[in-house]
Amino acid sequence: MQLKKFIETTCNKPISECSNQELYLALLSYTKEQIKEKETPCNDKKKLYYISAEFLIGKLLSNNLINLGIYDEVALLLKGNGKSLAEIEEAEPEPSLGNGGLGRLAACFLDSIATLGLPGDGVGLNYHLGLFKQVFKDHLQNETPNPWIEKESWLHKTDTTYRIAFGGTTVTSRLYDIDVIGYNNRVNKLHLFDVESVDESIVRDGISFNKEDIAKNLTLFLYPDDSDEDGRLLRIYQQYFMVSNGARLILDECIARGSNLHDLPDYAVIQINDTHPTMVIPELIRLLMIKGITFHEAMDIVSRTCAYTNHTILAEALEKWPMKYLEKVVPQLTPIIYALDDMVRRNYSDESVYIIDKNNLVHMAHIDIHYGFSINGVARLHTEILENNELNNFYKIYPEKFNNKTNGITFRRWLLHCDHDLTKFITSLIGEGYKTDATELEKLLKFKDDKKVLSELLKIKQANKKVLKDYILTTEGIEIDDNSIYDIQIKRLHEYKRQQLNVLYLIHKYLEIKAGKLPKRPITAIFGAKAAPAYIIAKDIIHAILCLQDIIDKDPVASKFLHVVMVENYNVSKAEKLIPACDISEQISLASKEASGTGNMKFMLNGAITLGTMDGANVEIHDLVGDDNIYIFGESSEEVIEHYAKADYVSKDFYEADPELKAAVDFLVGEEMLAIGSEEHLTRLYNELLNKDWFMTFLDFKSYVKTKDQAFKDYEDRTAWAKKMLVNIAKAGFFSSDRTIAEYNRDIWHLK
Ligand SMILES: *Cc1c(COP(=O)(O)O)cnc(C)c1O
Repeated sequence: MQLKKFIETTCNKPISECSNQELYLALLSYTKEQIKEKETPCNDKKKLYYISAEFLIGKLLSNNLINLGIYDEVALLLKGNGKSLAEIEEAEPEPSLGNGGLGRLAACFLDSIATLGLPGDGVGLNYHLGLFKQVFKDHLQNETPNPWIEKESWLHKTDTTYRIAFGGTTVTSRLYDIDVIGYNNRVNKLHLFDVESVDESIVRDGISFNKEDIAKNLTLFLYPDDSDEDGRLLRIYQQYFMVSNGARLILDECIARGSNLHDLPDYAVIQINDTHPTMVIPELIRLLMIKGITFHEAMDIVSRTCAYTNHTILAEALEKWPMKYLEKVVPQLTPIIYALDDMVRRNYSDESVYIIDKNNLVHMAHIDIHYGFSINGVARLHTEILENNELNNFYKIYPEKFNNKTNGITFRRWLLHCDHDLTKFITSLIGEGYKTDATELEKLLKFKDDKKVLSELLKIKQANKKVLKDYILTTEGIEIDDNSIYDIQIKRLHEYKRQQLNVLYLIHKYLEIKAGKLPKRPITAIFGAKAAPAYIIAKDIIHAILCLQDIIDKDPVASKFLHVVMVENYNVSKAEKLIPACDISEQISLASKEASGTGNMKFMLNGAITLGTMDGANVEIHDLVGDDNIYIFGESSEEVIEHYAKADYVSKDFYEADPELKAAVDFLVGEEMLAIGSEEHLTRLYNELLNKDWFMTFLDFKSYVKTKDQAFKDYEDRTAWAKKMLVNIAKAGFFSSDRTIAEYNRDIWHLK
């Protein structure tokens, strides 16, 4: 049916009289109809299953319209009737089925897999209340549930259900699917498993609930609090529920496509996204053995089917489960895990590669490495560190399994959708080709010295800054100055990402202003970050940011030059508004700690200039744009790794040697902060920095201040700055997730 007629029939009135909510629902069902018409039965023999605890998909309406090729048509019709698609989009709830980069990567990958026309589905869980919603109160983060499933949504209830048995209980699962539409290409699926008996009403004050009532709580939250034993057990229940459902779906589908299971690797490849889905390996072995295949053959089949992606070198993030937890939750898997460990012990004497260590902890990553055929890092530097340091003992055994796949982002969401004006401008200069071959963005380089093009770029950025100003005013009630420099750090709150370094800079700037040293142009420093609910120091850092924001706001002089804004509940939708308006992209992790980063790529693509360390994909950005078009500071990953090896970093030495640093650190527990903040939180943060500072904040303070001040100075030469913007956009093509996925397919998946 024609769109106008469809909406008016659905809503039973003319478009101009519909509310945004009504229009959203009408467009949702219209889009679902359009997708149904595009659906093609899977004729491919081999299929990819991307299994992940997180899929941070964001809102889907606009992206689906773009990928279906009908966005402009829909937007025009609505505009002609006095409606705005952007405003209608606000009615769509954002699912928080992910935590940060890892989950967003999974979502970008699904988009690119479908866009490249590859047969590949996502497999995960349908968390009803998502991660959590962040609410600020008294300068502190509070957590509340983030319900997102409404009566009408993108979820399709399917007929697929399984009985999933745990140690003590059995639950019935139900599969829900979300369509994944490629850009002018095929439709794949995101399979999200749910438990039929889940009960949202058991959640009380904030996000607490009875962690033992598995049948009711299994798919309530992503990453429920694991600071106690029940919480850790619940995570294992969730992981097993995800992989057991996934494994059964995969086997059912492969059998339906003609597999006799002995030939499973010809029908399926399973990409394991970090260690959360690791139990899919023993579970598949178990299921194949039930079908009559011997342990040894099953092990061989599964090892040729599974591939693993490592996302971090932070030791605390590499999952290790006590054997006794597994005995309790998944007793059917433990004999298999013992057998897998036994094989390793027979072949290797090096204890560091065992699956079960001497404390009876099961190292999940070790299962993936021994019993998967590929292990990849997510940026060149990260893979090098895995090979040469963190996983060197494994690299020596299996050099041929290791490979790098530098992360990417989908340009449909992170350019075409989030910055329509920039997209139109680029298209007017170089045509449409870059939308499917991102390397064509390099054609922009021929406009490097074109004054008109550069001034138009600045105009677009300015307009985006105005849009963000209006958005922050309506959503946060805060007025920012769109003539200021927008300096943005948005990412999960973690000490290794060093939001605290940015805080110390801002305190330093505030003190300079108080002393009469005024910046040439006002600076707006924007933060967005959720802290894990049990991560004490991360919450202390949020507290420090919110207190500082308040202090500066109340200072009649300083507030004219410096504005700190922490947006509440940072998520994909907010990222889409913040990134196109950004001047300076803060990517300041301690070198060697950020595996890749993908926020850095989104900013670059939207013409922000990176201020960063030589970490993760920043290294590759630097290679592409050159020294003149990025601001690099701080010690190198080699130097940092050496500090850890020698244990020679002493934060107090830096504090005592640098009066500016000392003043900024002391400010944390000074009169002004204590007047509005909590002594407990601020003192804890102060002591942590002074006595431990595991992520070496003070190490790079001096060079950070110097480099950042240089960037602010350079900003004043607007033409030179615009040229940097243009080079960044032109060189961003490498970071299209279409490139990343093409590499996964070429080296690992071998689909089609
Ligand atoms: C891209 C993205 C991230 C990852 O950001 P990094 O800076 O790479 O850590 C996290 N959260 C959201 C909502 C994102 O869109």
